[in-house]
Amino acid sequence: MRDKLIRSFVLLFATAMIGSLIAVHVNNINGVNALAGEYFAARTTATADPNPLLEPWKGPYGGVPPFDRVQVALFKPALDAAMMQNLMEVEKIAKDPAAPNFENTIAAMERTGRTLDRVTTIYNVWGSTMASPEFQVVQREMAPKLAAFSDKITQNEPLFKRIEAVYNSPAKAKLTPEQQRLSWLYYTNFVRSGARLNPEAKARLSQINQQLAGLFTKFSQNVLAEEDSQFITLKSGDELAGLPQSVRDAAAASAVTRKQPGTWVIMNTRSSVDPFLTYSDRRDLREKVWRMFINRGDNGDEHDNNAIITEILHLRAERAKLLGYLTHAHWRLENAMAKTPERAMELMMAVWKPALARVHEEVVDMQALATKEGSAIKIAPWDYRYYMERVRKAKYDLDQNEVKPYLQLEKLREGIFWVAGELFNFNFTPVTNVPVAHPDIRVWEVTDKTTKKHIGLWYFDPYARAGKRSGAWMNAYRSQERVNGEITTIVSNNANFVKGKPGEMLLISWDDATTMFHEFGHALHGLNSNVTYPSLSGTAVARDYVEFPSQLMEHWLSTPEVLQRFAVHYQTGKPIPQALVDKINRSKTFNQGFATVEYLAAALVDMKLHLAGDKKIDPRAFEKEALAGLGMPHEIVLRHRLPQFLHVFSSDSYSAGYYSYLWADVLTADAYGAFVEAGGPYDRKVAERLRKYIFSVGNTVDPAEAYRAFRGRDPKIEALMKKRGFPVGNAVSEARP
Ligand SMILES: [Zn+2]
Repeated sequence: MRDKLIRSFVLLFATAMIGSLIAVHVNNINGVNALAGEYFAARTTATADPNPLLEPWKGPYGGVPPFDRVQVALFKPALDAAMMQNLMEVEKIAKDPAAPNFENTIAAMERTGRTLDRVTTIYNVWGSTMASPEFQVVQREMAPKLAAFSDKITQNEPLFKRIEAVYNSPAKAKLTPEQQRLSWLYYTNFVRSGARLNPEAKARLSQINQQLAGLFTKFSQNVLAEEDSQFITLKSGDELAGLPQSVRDAAAASAVTRKQPGTWVIMNTRSSVDPFLTYSDRRDLREKVWRMFINRGDNGDEHDNNAIITEILHLRAERAKLLGYLTHAHWRLENAMAKTPERAMELMMAVWKPALARVHEEVVDMQALATKEGSAIKIAPWDYRYYMERVRKAKYDLDQNEVKPYLQLEKLREGIFWVAGELFNFNFTPVTNVPVAHPDIRVWEVTDKTTKKHIGLWYFDPYARAGKRSGAWMNAYRSQERVNGEITTIVSNNANFVKGKPGEMLLISWDDATTMFHEFGHALHGLNSNVTYPSLSGTAVARDYVEFPSQLMEHWLSTPEVLQRFAVHYQTGKPIPQALVDKINRSKTFNQGFATVEYLAAALVDMKLHLAGDKKIDPRAFEKEALAGLGMPHEIVLRHRLPQFLHVFSSDSYSAGYYSYLWADVLTADAYGAFVEAGGPYDRKVAERLRKYIFSVGNTVDPAEAYRAFRGRDPKIEALMKKRGFPVGNAVSEARP
């Protein structure tokens, strides 16, 4: 609801493989009007120490976030003051005696809320990477207040009348296309947020939004609590059977942070659990670790999320009705590229059937291997990753551990810089003159290789720590814009690698390397932005479109140019052997049945939940019945079971929207074809079209039109089916986005 228009942070998670988070901000540092200035003068004289979070960002590059001056106690007063200031700014626009026009209404709105943007940017960084128990108390208190604040703006009647007048005015035709789109965005977002409801309905809507905000916070904190507090301790060597040295080292490092010296600790996070399930020879321990992980939020204790889910779904259904929509899914998808839940379902089901068929083949292979080894087991969910890895070895002679010594985190970082240089003419220089939230975080300045012009800053926060959300994500600290002069962007990439010993090269898996390229794709989407208005900048695009640039960038990891230069052995410095690369390429569609089904089942359940209307939902029963109806293979569990499905229940942003990765992947696979057809991934002309029509335009252009401008036609689903190794039938070509 509050996406893009009112500053709020939006969760966006990455591929089917790894979670990602993007905070989309609408901000700038110069927009404080006179009225608010008076208010602040009064405040700062009354208090001895002005709150540093409220100050404009100082320092180089047009100012940088004052991470060195943050104290948790500053957040609440800063948020309260900044919200108050923002309301006064908006009130001034609403009460403007001049007749409404684009400049004094829409553009004026774009200049409001700059202080609040700066405060919430830092607040959200703390929420995702430094969420101490003390901070979580502030979050619980502030979430409903922030929701109520947003409603106060969208429910401001005189303000809406002005926006409506601008939107319906014949003068709109004289505005630039970007201004026309921004007018449409304001108008439609206000309407979709209840601007046209009667006062009673508005009051109820605001109540619902505040209740939901509280429930979202509780849901997230419950998952974080179980990820932080639960772990499995391995005490003897035979409990480590099968684990490669890198997994043992990571487990030993976790044991130190968990104060279990001399043991090995498997944490309750994906980056700790997945490698264990892949390599441990101990079936009993695999089952134990698997159960711990899939039961997050579902343990019947004080962190159980089931009742919260029921309540969230009930409130969402009521809100959708109040706003005049059939279901929450219909409301959410209206402005997405898919437009309707039916179109999204159609695409999902077109891919679901061949994916299921592939899973059955994969299980047959795994079962045969187990039987050949004399094991009487029947493949269970905690066996899938283990036997999948063994089959990979048997079928393709490919051992992931053979690949890892060539994948050094820092070398791959140089690799993504190099790709950005080839495609977008960017240059990266490390800088040390800006404050960071934690000593592990490093910063680079991005400039144009030819003109040396400053483009933005890139912050890199690669390591796991307590209070940091698991997974990987991108965050925009400041959006590019020029509504008040040129403002450059500040973006960050975040991950959860277990930090190695000092001086040791950190080696990562192929999947993690792919995720690095993915998150960097989001960063490049922000860095390439070239728009006027902050609400339309960078990654502030439709939810089912935003994963397209990021998923597209994943393709450059496996280009020979990157592998030969940057996938070099951590001891010998020699590039990865061609024979090994050939094996990786040959096995590209291996295990796509599993990857597609575990993701897609979660996306289908998400959509079905939000199409169910206002009937009371028991999450456990619903999950079970929905999966039975889909014919879910019993060897696979949902990638995110409902009590831990942060995409869907930590905010509204990905609710009825988990399908977005598949939708965007249709575009991704089809778009990469443009490079292949032109002769290669570094073709200058195609790269220029990519920058011009996709990476630089933000939300100033309708995504379907932008894609057509890049590709010369609409996307086709065939490339996706080929990419995943599924048969390309006639039926599927109808299910294009
Ligand atoms: Zn992503």
